[in-house]
Amino acid sequence: MNSRTFVCIVCPNGCTIETQYEGDKILSVTGNKCKKGIEYVRQELIDPRRTISSTVRIEGAELPLCSVRLTNVIPKKDIFRVMEEINKIKLTAPVSIGQVVIKNVCGLDSDVIVTKNMG
Ligand code: SF4
Repeated sequence: MNSRTFVCIVCPNGCTIETQYEGDKILSVTGNKCKKGIEYVRQELIDPRRTISSTVRIEGAELPLCSVRLTNVIPKKDIFRVMEEINKIKLTAPVSIGQVVIKNVCGLDSDVIVTKNMG
């Protein structure tokens, strides 16, 4: 049996959740104020997912960097691979919020989009 502590990020309460588990089977959960915390722990144990916010180079704008983010969370294990793709991006101004820079990055059902208007 294993023990692990999670901080639930589903809502601003940020409950500290103590969990005992074996493999992907949850044996006990304490500290969560609602059931969403159990789902969060289950997801973290089975298939942890994260999003990415970053910056990429841009030419022809007042600033040298433009902010981007993913439209969907991706498996935590793929973050390095996706960051390599994001680091290859070089934009040319103008760009606008929501503009897709990489569609379906690494085949993970998430797009890289611009989060700032830059003329
Ligand atoms: S367990 Fe429930 S109340 Fe606590 S942070 Fe998660 S979602 Fe919010």
